Amino acid sequence: MKTLLNLLGVALLIITLSFTPSKTKTVVIDVSHGGHDHGQQEHSITEKDIALQVAQKLQELSQNSSVEIILTRDSDAFVSLKDRSAFINKQKPHYMLSLHTNGHTDNSVSGYELFYGGEDYYEASKKLASNLSESLDIDLPSRGIKQAGFYLLKNTTCPSAFLEMGFLSNSQDRDYLTSESGQMAIATAIFKSLEQL
Ligand SMILES: [Zn+2]
Repeated sequence: MKTLLNLLGVALLIITLSFTPSKTKTVVIDVSHGGHDHGQQEHSITEKDIALQVAQKLQELSQNSSVEIILTRDSDAFVSLKDRSAFINKQKPHYMLSLHTNGHTDNSVSGYELFYGGEDYYEASKKLASNLSESLDIDLPSRGIKQAGFYLLKNTTCPSAFLEMGFLSNSQDRDYLTSESGQMAIATAIFKSLEQL
């Protein structure tokens, strides 16, 4: 009986494996901030936590897909920008997306925005940002796509973009970014875009 169960187990494993699509695309999701670096903070709500929560949802969504999602951190740990870029480049990914939330002294400012830059992958990064922007059909306004000279955009050896998911200083954005449904909507939109790239 035990042998039969073992055989069934092996058969199930083989069936599962044969239905799991092989990974053809690697994307590093840079989970910003972490540890003592909280990023934007509003009361007890921190950018570092929201970035990790959305990134983990993205990774879950990718499990039975052709996209491999690698995170720069999977816990509340501080990782320097230098270590992040070294880690990202070592994975030789097809794309890199860094997740952030924004803040503003004017709490009426709301919405998400995308950044791209760098030199070697300038056009491909711009395309990545615009594809992501088109896919982000979420309940927050778009503030467009912009150029930036962020360290990771300049030091990552693949097309890369930054997504500022919304403003923690705005109460509607904050409610959306801290809700399961809001985070899932953002993760799903990003994932669909990455899958189609
Ligand atoms: Zn940030």
